[in-house]
Formats: sequence, structure tokens, C-alpha cells
Amino acid sequence: MAVCSKCGGNGVYERRYSGEVLCANCFKASIVEKTRRTISRYGMVKFGERLGVAVSGGKDSLSLLKVLDGLNQDSRFQLVALTVDEGVRGYREESIAHASDLTRQLNIEHVVVSYEGLFGFSLDKALDWKDEREISSCSICGVFRRRAIDEAALKAKVNVVATAHNLDDYAQTFLMNLLHGDVERIGWLDPAYVDESFPVRRVKPFMEIYEEEVALYAYLSGIPFQSVSCPYMHEGLRGEVRDYLNEMEVKHPGMKNVLLKSSLSVVSRLSPAETGHHSVPCITCGKPSSGGTCNVCKMKEVVRQHVKYGE
Ligand SMILES: [Zn+2]
Ligand SMILES: [Zn+2]
Repeated sequence: MAVCSKCGGNGVYERRYSGEVLCANCFKASIVEKTRRTISRYGMVKFGERLGVAVSGGKDSLSLLKVLDGLNQDSRFQLVALTVDEGVRGYREESIAHASDLTRQLNIEHVVVSYEGLFGFSLDKALDWKDEREISSCSICGVFRRRAIDEAALKAKVNVVATAHNLDDYAQTFLMNLLHGDVERIGWLDPAYVDESFPVRRVKPFMEIYEEEVALYAYLSGIPFQSVSCPYMHEGLRGEVRDYLNEMEVKHPGMKNVLLKSSLSVVSRLSPAETGHHSVPCITCGKPSSGGTCNVCKMKEVVRQHVKYGE
């Protein structure tokens, strides 16, 4: 490969959408700088705030923790790692160990909560009814994980939670909402919107970085890749949308960046700040919902019908 466009060192990566060739150090520095710009563009973190980082222990979230720690050498904010143990035997132990290793190495406070402790059942138990299940395992788990992160955030007393969603995740979610006809949800993707009824803000500092670049950052930084994947993984439509976007990017480098820009433009017009579709308290648990009973309470009821407690 050609030499690094920035320092003349050994090139390891060609950024096709910009035409740059980068060496390992300049590439890693570019990821840190891109993240810093995203945080500053959307005012994601304010001086002196406690910033929770949702760390599953996968390569994306470990990379996010490392990048944020690198950006925080002047202690502008306080970092806390938040981990949710969904309770998947033979799978979660490894990633939770990776999360503990990195937080210890970086000397970052680490708060772990579990589905078992919060909801009374592990994911293994919640999914232990295979017949006639119409909801995918990832939809069931996703609803509980979001709430669990909120609970971990309250426990850790953080002001804001950063998740490792990257540009690909963002663009996929945007397209999936379009394909599902879920226009209201598109507005929720507004990075500048703060829902006052949620106790903590949510931010995505990697939302302007390609998935493959996060993966390369992890690899070049020696971040461990988990050897097994979640046994319940069911990607469905998201997997198809991911493949489609990757094919388009190969044929037309930079197309994902363009899609992000278009999405942001649409999102800002559909933002609850514009439409007034704010969340309202769930009639059962009082947490924010789009109306009536929240998804967590609905899903708990579905699980309760199938899980026999105390067995
Ligand atoms: Zn270089
Ligand atoms: Zn509820």
C-alpha cells in the first residue's frame, strides 16, 4: 500500500471516500478526532458531567470507552462504564470479562446490572419458549436492554449515556423505520433532541464513523474480539439492509456518508422538538412511553405468560 498521506509512514488503510491513505497511528488519531468533532457538533457532553458509557464488552463499545478515555485526559468529564448482564450462559461471561479488564486498565468506575436483578428473569429464561413465538429474540432483548441501561445510569448517577452506535447502525435504523412505515420513530433519531421526561440523555459519539473503521480501530488498538456470537442473534431485516448498504458503498464510495447527511436532514424535520410528539408516562410503571403502557411493561407481561417463576 502507498505511504500515509499525513506523515509519510507505512499506509495500512485506504479511506476510499476521501482518497486518503493512513498509517496505523494517523488512522487511530483520525477516529479520536472525528469522535471529538461529533461530540462538540451536537453538544453531547458538558463540562463536569458524569458520562456513562454503555459497555457490552464487544469491540464497538470497548473502542468507544477507549476513545472517550483518550479524549478525557484533562478530566473534562467523569467517565463511568455501564454494563448490562442479560444472562446468556456461555456467551456473556467472556464479554463481561473484557469490559472489566478494560475498565480496570483505564481505572474507570464500572457499574454492572442484570436482567435477573432488574426484571426477575435472565434472557435465557425469558426466551425459553420456542413454540409460536412471534416476536424475535432481539426485539424482546432490545426492549429490556434499553430500560436496563437507564436503570444502570440512575444507579451510577450519570447525566448522559453514550452508546457505541456507529454510522452504519444509524443509517440502518433510519432505513428500517422507513421500510416499517414508522415515521414517528425517525424523529427520535434526532441527535440534538433532548427528551426532558427521560432522566438521562442519550448520545452516539460514533454516529459519524463507519462500522468498518470502528472495527479497524479496535484491531489496531489491540481490543479483544469476542470469540462466540450471541446464540439468540436474529438479524432479519437489519442484516439485509446492512448488506445492501455495504454493496452500495463498494460501488459508490462515500454513499453511506451521504445517506447519513440526508437522514439527519429528514430527522431534524420530524424531531419531537418540531412535531410535539413528546413521550408520556407509562400508566403502569410511570417511565416514559409513546402512550398508554410502555414497551417494557408490555413485554414483561408477554414473558410472564410463559415463564414460570421460581422454577
Ligand atoms: Zn501517518
Ligand atoms: Zn411501563
